[in-house]
Amino acid sequence: MDRLDNDIKFVTGVGEARARLLEKELGIRTLGDMLRHYPFRYIDRTRIYPIAEITEAAGLSYVQFRARVVGVAYAGTGRRQRFTATVRDASGTAELIWFQGIKWIEKRVEVGREYLVFGRPTFYRGALSVAHPELETIEQALTRKAESGMQGIYPSTEKLGRLLGTKGMYQIVCNTWALVRDHIDDPLPGEIRTRYGLIPLRDAYYNIHFPQSQEALRQAQYRLKFDELLGVQLNIQQRRAARLSKNNGFLFPKVGGVFNTFYHEKLPFPLTGAQKRVIREIRQDTVSGFQMNRLLQGDVGSGKTLVALMSMLLAVDNGFQACMMAPTEILARQHFATIRRMLEGMDVRVAILTGASKARERREALEGIASGEVGILIGTHALIEDRVQFSNLGFVVIDEQHRFGVEQRARLWTKNAQPPHILVMTATPIPRTLAMTLYGDLDVSVIDELPPGRRPIKTFHYTDAARLKLFGFMRQEIKKGRQVYIVYPLIEESEAMDYKDLTDGYEAISRDFPLPEYVTAICHGRMKPADKEESMRQFKEGEAQILVATSVIEVGVDVPNATVMVIESAERFGLSQLHQLRGRVGRGGEQSYCILMSGEKLSRESRARLDAMCETNDGFRLAELDLKLRGAGDINGTQQSGMAFDLKIASPTADIQILTLSREAAAAILAADPELEKPGNRGLATLKKRYSGKEEIDFSRIS
Ligand code: ADP
Ligand code: MG
Repeated sequence: MDRLDNDIKFVTGVGEARARLLEKELGIRTLGDMLRHYPFRYIDRTRIYPIAEITEAAGLSYVQFRARVVGVAYAGTGRRQRFTATVRDASGTAELIWFQGIKWIEKRVEVGREYLVFGRPTFYRGALSVAHPELETIEQALTRKAESGMQGIYPSTEKLGRLLGTKGMYQIVCNTWALVRDHIDDPLPGEIRTRYGLIPLRDAYYNIHFPQSQEALRQAQYRLKFDELLGVQLNIQQRRAARLSKNNGFLFPKVGGVFNTFYHEKLPFPLTGAQKRVIREIRQDTVSGFQMNRLLQGDVGSGKTLVALMSMLLAVDNGFQACMMAPTEILARQHFATIRRMLEGMDVRVAILTGASKARERREALEGIASGEVGILIGTHALIEDRVQFSNLGFVVIDEQHRFGVEQRARLWTKNAQPPHILVMTATPIPRTLAMTLYGDLDVSVIDELPPGRRPIKTFHYTDAARLKLFGFMRQEIKKGRQVYIVYPLIEESEAMDYKDLTDGYEAISRDFPLPEYVTAICHGRMKPADKEESMRQFKEGEAQILVATSVIEVGVDVPNATVMVIESAERFGLSQLHQLRGRVGRGGEQSYCILMSGEKLSRESRARLDAMCETNDGFRLAELDLKLRGAGDINGTQQSGMAFDLKIASPTADIQILTLSREAAAAILAADPELEKPGNRGLATLKKRYSGKEEIDFSRIS
């Protein structure tokens, strides 16, 4: 057995109880897991700050200073008790605070003595304090063996942090290292290491935990990111090969009566060139004999729904059923209404199924799809429930796919013995390699053209001082016969307050000053589905001129007569969310406007977001900027949990260059050894297995 597979409990300082906690809190079970628990930042333990330099503006996350204790004090009683020590250096004073372990610490803090203090600075009215700092007497600090300058800070959880602290976690890493240092095999063949300039794995592990220099750290990060992304690429490419070798895709050879009737008689406008091209791509896939797995990217308002509908009609023409899954109830209802309207008079039965479906609607949908009478089923994730049994599902559309988790998407694929073709749609433009790393093996189509006659939306940023002007403007637009959205943020942590803002805003606008002459509808997640639906109907049919809502309307909602989107507290939204919200207007021929409301005071990042919104309507550019502003980790609201693969150090967005290299390496490796069976590739096979991701089970069912 590989030494790295040994249980973490054998590490000095761990034991049974801590091992259980490490597994529960961080998923660390083996020595290898611990070794791959990488620091998320490093602090410079050689740097000692004068207290006066540690200011809020300096933005330091950890600091070290040398100061003398000038006084101690107790405050509070019982569980509220705390112990503080006032310390001073030549430049200023600071407060050290303990809420726990007071008995222990009070014996160790001596008035008049000088200490080396290390911890996370906090500020109250400009005054520096450090809660639960690490303390060493100067004598101790001087005799401490010289460590490298940088010390890793490890991801932890509240519970573990309380038990171990920064230092405890670091100790465990040190002890783990002592056990494994001579047992680290390198999975990469030497030739790949040379070609991509990768340091040996052992050195990489050493330098990620105990970096001896910035350069050593950089090389370690490069190597470890490369390994992760290579592991992912090996999986994706092997699965792709398997999918394309199976020849088990449903065939849609006919372009039949349903498609043609729709195209010639029902289509309200000519398709854009891009829409035609994508339909052709889908058509090619569905006559190829291979199962399609395609991502359709197109900016908000580019007309993805129509492409989806026409693809579904192809399925119907060939005797298959199709379904379309939307992330929200509102969007599912809207798709249902649009599609039913467009197919009016045609011989295709369309049904809807959502969590809010009443008994009758539910029964009709379930019976209709089981018997095969329903050709197109539209719904929310209610579609993936087990009792939803299709008679012959051939085509699946997933709208706004970044909203769904991997497991949800994968479960739709098992709705037929043979996997249906899959079309996933998103307004988030990302490169294909990245899309694959996030979502698994896919082909990508792009709609890079908006329907003709669209006028660019004008975007303005107002502060509260301009509210009267805003109301005047809204009135002016409504008088012209247009409609207005007002959207409030809804953030989980401050939910109660957010709802209050929303309902206050609604009451103010509908009852009091300033727009009582108009009908205002309201729509948010706490309302009953029937009430939500009624509000949306009022707005859609023009009975209400104003819709006050949370971002439940963010995705997909389509009311072409609405020309004004007011976003309250716009600084609290992410860039892609703002862009999605703005995409609710500008859908007809009229000039549309997006008004971003915010307070006067804005962080630099918020200001950059709002400025970018005012400058451009281009979703591609905004996505890029979003990446830059947010840095690694998270692209356009794609939650980590939605990612197909579990990455510890690489970020498929920030490390796109390494991703490209690893992809090339994986292709070369698999070309020479498709099953990774050669003895020299045993390490690669293990690497592949480690990053097989969350989709493994479902994928194997497909291929
Ligand atoms: P999204 O890509 O954001 O999902 P939709 O499919 O909701 O966009 O389409 C946006 C609007 O554009 C809808 O009102 C739709 O009817 C309209 N539309 C779609 N295709 C065309 C076209 N080729 N010409 C004119 N309008 C179109
Ligand atoms: Mg849409």
